[in-house]
Amino acid sequence: MVRSLLPVLFFLAFLPSGIPQQTTTPPPTQPSSSAKAPAPFKPPDTIFGYRNPAAELQTEKTFLAVPDPQLAKKHLQVLTAAPHVAGSPEDRHTAEYVLQQYTAAGLDASIQPYKVWMALPLDVRVDVVAPEGVVMHGPSPERVSDDPFQKDPRILPPFNEYSPSGDVTADVVYANYGRAEDFKKLQELGVDVKGKIVIIRYGEVFRGVKVYLAEKNGAAGVILYSDPWDDGYFKGDKYVKGPWRPDSGVQRGSVQYLFRYPGDPTTPDIASLPDLPESKRTPPAQATDLPKIPATPLSYADATPILQNLGGPDTPRSWQGALPFTYHVGPGPVKVHLSVKQNYRYTTIWDVIGVVKGSELPNEWVVTGNHRDAWVYGAVDPNSGTAAQLEAVHGVGELLKSGWRPKRTLVFASWDAEEEGLIGSTEFAEQHAKELSRAVAYFNMDAAVSGPDFGASAVPSLKQYLRDVTKSVPSPKGGSVYDEWKSKGDKGEQERNAPAVNDTAPAPGGEPAASATKDVRVGDLGSGSDYTAFLQHLGVPSADIGSKGPYGVYHSTFDDFMWFSKFGDPTFVYEQEMARVYGIEAIRMASTDVLPFDYEEYGKEVAEYVKSAEQKAKSQFGDQAPSFADALQAAQRLQKAGANVLVVQGRPSGDPGVVNLVLRNTERAFLIDGLPERPWFKHVIYAPGEHTGYAAVVIPGVNEAIENNNLALTKQQLQILTAALNRAAGGLELVK
Ligand SMILES: [Zn+2]
Repeated sequence: MVRSLLPVLFFLAFLPSGIPQQTTTPPPTQPSSSAKAPAPFKPPDTIFGYRNPAAELQTEKTFLAVPDPQLAKKHLQVLTAAPHVAGSPEDRHTAEYVLQQYTAAGLDASIQPYKVWMALPLDVRVDVVAPEGVVMHGPSPERVSDDPFQKDPRILPPFNEYSPSGDVTADVVYANYGRAEDFKKLQELGVDVKGKIVIIRYGEVFRGVKVYLAEKNGAAGVILYSDPWDDGYFKGDKYVKGPWRPDSGVQRGSVQYLFRYPGDPTTPDIASLPDLPESKRTPPAQATDLPKIPATPLSYADATPILQNLGGPDTPRSWQGALPFTYHVGPGPVKVHLSVKQNYRYTTIWDVIGVVKGSELPNEWVVTGNHRDAWVYGAVDPNSGTAAQLEAVHGVGELLKSGWRPKRTLVFASWDAEEEGLIGSTEFAEQHAKELSRAVAYFNMDAAVSGPDFGASAVPSLKQYLRDVTKSVPSPKGGSVYDEWKSKGDKGEQERNAPAVNDTAPAPGGEPAASATKDVRVGDLGSGSDYTAFLQHLGVPSADIGSKGPYGVYHSTFDDFMWFSKFGDPTFVYEQEMARVYGIEAIRMASTDVLPFDYEEYGKEVAEYVKSAEQKAKSQFGDQAPSFADALQAAQRLQKAGANVLVVQGRPSGDPGVVNLVLRNTERAFLIDGLPERPWFKHVIYAPGEHTGYAAVVIPGVNEAIENNNLALTKQQLQILTAALNRAAGGLELVK
């Protein structure tokens, strides 16, 4: 496969200025099935934050004409030609390809290596050893009737990154999704998981949370499997007939406790530079983000003989998956031998960084990132994002050729080892904490395209900015991306209680904890992708975007070019759309006169968070519940100060220096010394939930203290929150 990659690299090496250049945007074609013709695309002619938008509007028009579906397709083919797990030679090839594209576009680009603690599987086995007559020796290879990529010998066997090595033989217990409430239910049923192997289905919460809770409850080992209920035949036709998970498909993935801290487990707070001495590292045995019990993933084909031979009580009805028998919780009589041998060692990984230096404010960075490493081929996750990013970079390259320069510095990043634990982005953020203290924004894109439905998550100050950006980008369905997003959202109002399309994979969008407007909803940032270090460690305002559809091959061999071109985006027009949205996000922010942050919406949402936490505290603590009045007042003060600053932001003249400085520092006012028991997380408003992982927990210090029934800590965390909100509001009040 390396050999087959080379001719393409060779071919593209001679294309830097010869890349076919589109001069006009082809008019979007309207879907014939649509009853109502969408409005024709007409971008707005004003931009909030720009005093005289004419030049920027022209720049954006030029930019929008560049991203090309056929070139995105070519990028994706090159990037997914071989399995390229972080640190492998094939991963290095993809880094060089990205470097070449960045350089061809005129970016000042280089490869940044880090040396990080990671494992690859040496040998993983799951064998049913009882009852007699039941035979299963897994994991079985992932096979479908017809997929040209499935037999590559470099495909890693299914495994869970950061599982320790271990060998356990024990009775099995079924624990549904492995959430806190599921383990509680088992207790109520009188089923003890101590010393048992717990089998848990994927979905609802981050897989690391499942292992963490199993470990806390005394389990000896964990099997994670994909139930057809969640992303298999119960959702629709399975691959290769449809986009859903086939019987043998396995979800790989990290079980790092990234809600403690992400990145290299041996270097919280510091960068794993190749020459970092051993003495500066935390010994792996002391790393608090590593599981202590072995875990491994299975397909539902391999999980069936285990689940089918469980005795004990019937499960609660909501625990029943879609396999054709009644689920029981156990324990036993089925007994499993689980053996995991991992090869832990320091591994070199490679971020690729491309810079366009700002002409006026070079110390203010606008950072845009996407990860490049994949568990196997990673056509959707993450290389649909890489291909779209490269087409955005292509557009920036055309602008540079025309003499354009951004006011602020644009940094494009291709992260490595995101899959293991957000490692490339975390190490970069830790390395550049000082420069990033002046950064304006971080824009993330991970699995950019699995279908046609646009979604976004962001801090509240950037939600309106994202809506505005999507108004300036045409949708392949006609009208703007915003129009399409909004019409889906309006329809979604009635279907909000229906299960999400992709609830086994993290995806931008989703239901925010609070909504300050009737406008299209932008989700909250929890974790599960590379914005984590930027926002939650350093306080850089962040956003994440993606375009979603039915996607059942997440982290399996079958997330490959064939799946993508059959189901994900056959014409690559959503690749083009994402390249455009991502590019406009970045170039518009880089040259804005006044930063477009909306702290009125931020204050409103936080006020809602405080109100719902107050209700929770009342039901938890009764008469003892502390007063939330100060916190609520501080949130409302933030809302009011934000509203006043919005008026100043919209003024047509005056020196924007002070207002920009204040706006730039406001998100940082939310940084505190650290959350209880997880000091790496420093943001007082957003963190990955200790019990959810992907999903954000809002005002985490307060909410988790309530959940843990700790009144003293609730009071203390309320004070910390109130002080941070007042700090932010006080800064904004300086703007007159
Ligand atoms: Zn990803």
